[in-house]
Amino acid sequence: MAATIWYENDGDLSVLNGKKVAILGYGSQGHAHALNLRDSGVDVVVGLRPSSKSVEYAKEQGLEVKPIEEAVAEADVVMILLPDQHQARVYKEQVEPNLKPGAALAFAHGFNIHYGYIKPSEDHPVFMVAPKGPGHIVRREYAAGRGVPVVVAVEQDPRGDAWAITLAYAKALGALRAGAIKTTFKEETETDLFGEQDVLMGGVNHLVECGFEVLTEAGYQPEIAYFEVCHELKMLVDLMNEGGLNKARWSCSDTAQYGDFTSTVVDESTKDRMRHQLKRIQDGSFAKEFMDDQAAGAPKFKELQEKFSHEKIEEVGPKLRAMFSWNNGPAADADEAES
Ligand code: NAD
Ligand code: MG
Ligand code: MG
Ligand code: MG
Ligand code: MG
Repeated sequence: MAATIWYENDGDLSVLNGKKVAILGYGSQGHAHALNLRDSGVDVVVGLRPSSKSVEYAKEQGLEVKPIEEAVAEADVVMILLPDQHQARVYKEQVEPNLKPGAALAFAHGFNIHYGYIKPSEDHPVFMVAPKGPGHIVRREYAAGRGVPVVVAVEQDPRGDAWAITLAYAKALGALRAGAIKTTFKEETETDLFGEQDVLMGGVNHLVECGFEVLTEAGYQPEIAYFEVCHELKMLVDLMNEGGLNKARWSCSDTAQYGDFTSTVVDESTKDRMRHQLKRIQDGSFAKEFMDDQAAGAPKFKELQEKFSHEKIEEVGPKLRAMFSWNNGPAADADEAES
């Protein structure tokens, strides 16, 4: 079953003529969507809490900014780019009561629709344009005349125009320059959660920390261990991005390749644990655990953030990263300013 992929000529920007698009939130994705759509000629309003530090920032970039309720009230398309765990409450209190009849609702991740935390009434088209890259890259690539690929989906299509709106939005975001792959809210949500918790973050991050601890416990210098299990990762991932696993292997020594082929660290039992994690995503128990904790003020999440910020590898990490002139120095370690 070949994927359906849409490109630049498949989207018609005029679908958004005379329509107002409200972008709720001005974080990683929010700023990129608002600026890219605006620069594509779309009439954009940014919806923010009046207390948000982003109000001034968005205005400085020439955007119209209003409180969420007012931005929603005048919008024909409302893109919700708030943290996933806060969307349901904001939707109930500030979006739903102000939504124009028939206004389209949009998301960059299927979580709240798929797990039923947000249940829009049937007269609203519901679609997704989910960039496969961080918001800051979505903006940077657009400005360079390129685009970050997206996955797109339609959950509700009461008038038959939801796909046309979706593709027009994706085009305005610059994404059709790269391509939009058709998916569903279910597929995007479940695969996105799986990828981040079992491979990209939960997989790689723990693998790096385990490798660092095994080497240093065995008496090797932490600085050397850092280089071997963390620093070089980026270079391999760059090659993987360019040419897949085979290019990453091709560029390494035969010794490294033989060690890769014969290693038993990741094996069939890893896949069994991945299948277990996938089941918890599919049956909603991961989402429930996360959302219940968030609803209680996120005690477990905060405890884990604190615990994992003190991993052993970070005792030596900052010193070594400072050796690389192409990093931005100590500032690169800080969280990017937002909200
Ligand atoms: P973010 O944390 O960077 O930004 C969230 C914005 O919402 C900020 O402007 C913040 O001030 C505002 N906000 C936070 N709490 C709020 C509240 N209670 N009420 C009103 N506003 C509030 O978020 P993000 O990473 O851009 O994620 C937004 C959506 O995009 C999510 O659905 C996420 O899954 C999806 N997504 C993100 C990325 C990414 O690169 N970060 C990639 C693909 C999809
Ligand atoms: Mg964030
Ligand atoms: Mg993802
Ligand atoms: Mg995700
Ligand atoms: Mg090496």
